[in-house]
Amino acid sequence: MTIPNVTMRWCRKQATCRWCNKPIEIGTPIVAVLFWNKGNPDSRRWNVQICYHPQCWVDQGLDYLNRNPFVPHRRGVKSKLSEEDRKKRYLLVRRFHALEQRKKNSKLDYPDNLLMDSRLTKQMTDIMLDMVKVGGIPKSWVEKLG
Ligand SMILES: [Zn+2]
Repeated sequence: MTIPNVTMRWCRKQATCRWCNKPIEIGTPIVAVLFWNKGNPDSRRWNVQICYHPQCWVDQGLDYLNRNPFVPHRRGVKSKLSEEDRKKRYLLVRRFHALEQRKKNSKLDYPDNLLMDSRLTKQMTDIMLDMVKVGGIPKSWVEKLG
């Protein structure tokens, strides 16, 4: 089992940021994530360090949360969904995130292509409507349409 250990410190040796792939310069703040692995009888203990710019650490964390929307624990909601609906929901979530990624990329590559942007928004809205039938729209999605 790995237990990450996160520290922020001054960068002493130039490293590469895991999130943006740009160098982290000596003397600037760095977020170091240390993964400990205590090993087992036939492998020695080892650890892995992953480095981020402080802002990139926040960005990757928020990105992770966006990909794993907050789901409040409400009793009974899950059991109301049939196996088939749950599968449908899973596929919708995947499609939504793929569209979201395309929307993000198109904004970077073609900032003036409003047609493409609004087409993607329309597709995302359609998925939201389908989601209503299979358990509801994750709260975080609504904010993403802006
Ligand atoms: Zn970075």
